Parts: sequence; C-alpha cells; structure tokens
Amino acid sequence: MEDCIFCKIVSGEIPSNKIHESDHVYAFMDISPISKGHCLFIPKVHAEKMHEVADETLSEILIMIKQVINAGVFENYNVLQNNGIIAHQEVKHAHWHLIPKEHSDEGLKLEWKPNKEIEQTRIADKIRANLLFEFE
Ligand SMILES: [Zn+2]
Repeated sequence: MEDCIFCKIVSGEIPSNKIHESDHVYAFMDISPISKGHCLFIPKVHAEKMHEVADETLSEILIMIKQVINAGVFENYNVLQNNGIIAHQEVKHAHWHLIPKEHSDEGLKLEWKPNKEIEQTRIADKIRANLLFEFE
C-alpha cells in the first residue's frame, strides 16, 4: 500500500534493522524501543488490523515471535498487538510488538481496571451464534 511506512520497510524503500524474513512475515527492531530487544513482526501483505491478516500468516507470526524470544533468551516479556486508533494503533499496518522486560521499571506498563458491572452475557451469546470455525 502506498504511503504505508511498514510496506516501505518490507520493500526495502525504508531501511530497517531486520531480524528475520519468511515468506509471509518480516521481523525488525523497533526504532523507538521501550526496552532492550523491543522488536516488531508484520505481515508482508498489507492489512490494517489483525482480523484482516491471512490465517497462515497469523500462525507464522506467533511462531516467529516464539523463536525470537528463545533466540534472545527473554525470560519476561509482553506481546502487544493494537487495533484501531482508540486502541493505540499508531501505524495502520497490523503489527505485533515483542517487548522484553528485564526490569520491572522498563518495558510495557499497563493500566488494568476490572469492572464487575460490565454485562457479558449478551455479547457472549452473540459471539457463540456468529462463530465461524474452520477447525474444531
Ligand atoms: Zn502496509
């Protein structure tokens, strides 16, 4: 896609510190890291959000993340994947952050506010009614 910074990284138009590249996935170091080893995994084919990425590519992304975790010997880490502006997606090309956390004062910090008032029954019914699984 034109004017997509991640598509330009995949094509080589914009240089990157590449870790690995497979048929469907490109992995590289984040240029604005929040911890040592912070890197990104993106599908080579442009897709804005995770649910628009092909199943085969999604599988390959998780496997590549796992291999990089093992190669970097990261004991503690977060895998972050944001979709949509209000969900903190800054580049409109689906991407997965691997954010190692060697120390509690670095890396990803989360604000997590459980709310017992949220009604879950109707949305659960809707999800079950609309699920389309290609496998059991
Ligand atoms: Zn793109």
